[in-house]
Amino acid sequence: MIIHDISMNIHPKMTVYKNRDGKRPILTQSAVFEKDGVNETNLTMNLHTGTHIDFPLHTMNRGKDSNHHELKTFLGMAKVFDLSFVNDHITLNDIQSFDIEENDFVLFKTKNSEVEAFDFNFIYLDLSAAQYLKERKIRGVGIDALGIERNQPNHPTHDVLLGNNIIILEGLRLKGIEAKRYEFICLPLKIDDVEALPVRAILIENE
Ligand SMILES: [Zn+2]
Repeated sequence: MIIHDISMNIHPKMTVYKNRDGKRPILTQSAVFEKDGVNETNLTMNLHTGTHIDFPLHTMNRGKDSNHHELKTFLGMAKVFDLSFVNDHITLNDIQSFDIEENDFVLFKTKNSEVEAFDFNFIYLDLSAAQYLKERKIRGVGIDALGIERNQPNHPTHDVLLGNNIIILEGLRLKGIEAKRYEFICLPLKIDDVEALPVRAILIENE
């Protein structure tokens, strides 16, 4: 069995969305072994930092939150598609020849996975591609950027996907990952009533 970890490492100097300091995780030691007999750490972190899932509540005020998704959404089979040829954004044309079926979880590998620093011109998914994924009735879509869209007014890509209960997985790291089918797990933490949650995303290959 080969396990590919496609998650970001979480640490104070990690890459965060638009390099905003408020998105950086803050780790503070609340107990020190020499003084307290144990080590303990507090974490303060935006839920969209690192590899995470966006739930409908993120862009729609009455959208479903983290409590309203079955666990089976977050595991099963995923299909990785290679979109390394895309230079700015993913459109319907780029993906309509792909084998995308109902209930699929699709992961899009782009040039973003080659870059470690935050790229203000990261590859994003446009509205035409989002509408196509809606028509295909997939259950989730992942991308190797900290956002699935960049500066689109009124975030139409988010709304089309989240409005149709297609969860969005952002912040994947897909460098070196072959485009094919994998067993897939991206379990979110069990935090109630929120719009996003960090996940540890992995792909599994059985030999
Ligand atoms: Zn997000």
